[in-house]
Amino acid sequence: MKQIYLDYSATTPVKKEVLEEMLPYFSENFGNPSSLYEIGFEAKDAIAKARSRVAHIIGASDREIFFTSGGTESDNWAIIGTARAFKNKGNHIITSKIEHHAVLHTCEFLEKEGYEVTYLNVDSNGRISIEELEEAITDNTILISIMFANNEMGAIQPIKEISRIAKKHNIVFHTDAVQALGNVPIDVKDLGIDLMSMSSHKIYGPKGIGALYIRKGLVIPNLIHGGGQERKKRAGTENVPAIVGFGKAAELAEANLDRHIKELETLRNYFISEVTKRIPDVSLNGSLENRLPGNINMVFNYIEGEALLLAMDHKGIYASTGSACSSASFSPSHVLLAMGLPVEKVYSSIRFTIGDFTTKEDIDYVLDELEAIVKKLREISPFNKDNVMKTAQVCNC
Ligand SMILES: *Cc1c(COP(=O)(O)O)cnc(C)c1O
Repeated sequence: MKQIYLDYSATTPVKKEVLEEMLPYFSENFGNPSSLYEIGFEAKDAIAKARSRVAHIIGASDREIFFTSGGTESDNWAIIGTARAFKNKGNHIITSKIEHHAVLHTCEFLEKEGYEVTYLNVDSNGRISIEELEEAITDNTILISIMFANNEMGAIQPIKEISRIAKKHNIVFHTDAVQALGNVPIDVKDLGIDLMSMSSHKIYGPKGIGALYIRKGLVIPNLIHGGGQERKKRAGTENVPAIVGFGKAAELAEANLDRHIKELETLRNYFISEVTKRIPDVSLNGSLENRLPGNINMVFNYIEGEALLLAMDHKGIYASTGSACSSASFSPSHVLLAMGLPVEKVYSSIRFTIGDFTTKEDIDYVLDELEAIVKKLREISPFNKDNVMKTAQVCNC
């Protein structure tokens, strides 16, 4: 059976070039980067090279990049670290209702410790309002944490305007850029970002590795305590192969960025326009503007998203109802709800995310299957307006 992966926002396959660069660091070059002999030095040099590559793609300097175990740890470190560093200045944090759980649950954890958190609303396109942000600021505000781009419906936030407001009020600005990295041009200096979370497995690198950008001059306490790795800021023996892979993935992402964006946008727009043409009663969640190039999130009215996912799985098509974490649960997407979508439309929403290995042939196959599956499911769906009428007629007799 054909297998078509359309869940690139959940994770991406490791690219061949990335794997090749990683392999020697599992065996021949297995040294501990802290050791004072040749294979240790080799590992240390490899980390330095990877750090430069990650720094380069976001316009940072090498000394501002700290490797972590991934996006989740980077979010935790940025938010908990800032909260602790500035606890004498205030206890108020501003974030949004559509953040990844790595941010939301970290904020909820801090609320239990006595911090106050404002969760900003978003509009129907998933974007926050700069006016609402500025109104939420108090004398106690120490951190603004707003994601660069949303993992479920792809909305890209007005990052430069947010950082301008943060700077004006002397507040630290953190952004979760896990989805934006490799999909949107990022220059942390131009954008005025203080802290930025990144993850390797969303950009064709290995899992379990990421980084936190910490602007020079900003000091936050460690999250992980132990040895002196990462210039004493993040303890634990470095995952050298993973770091090397992340570095290579970042280098490739930077080199391919323009082409990657153009190709994905073309395929994405084709997919959306064909679905809209061929299947009645569908709509796009959010706007095509300010959207990740590979994100498609659509409502298929009168159908339960889970049923659609299962039917597609039988045809070898892998998509999702939202984030990887929410997919395992039955709770409706907090992101789509925050955008004001009625709950039945949230349950009828499906996310397709395309990537570098998606072809036009894949999309055409998916379109054919999708059209047939939606038709079939609607024939048997109790939510279908025609079926509701039939049922009503039966009851009347
Ligand atoms: C995937 C993701 C994370 C978590 O990153 P991990 O490396 O999997 O821990 C955080 N934020 C966003 C927006 C994500 O998409």
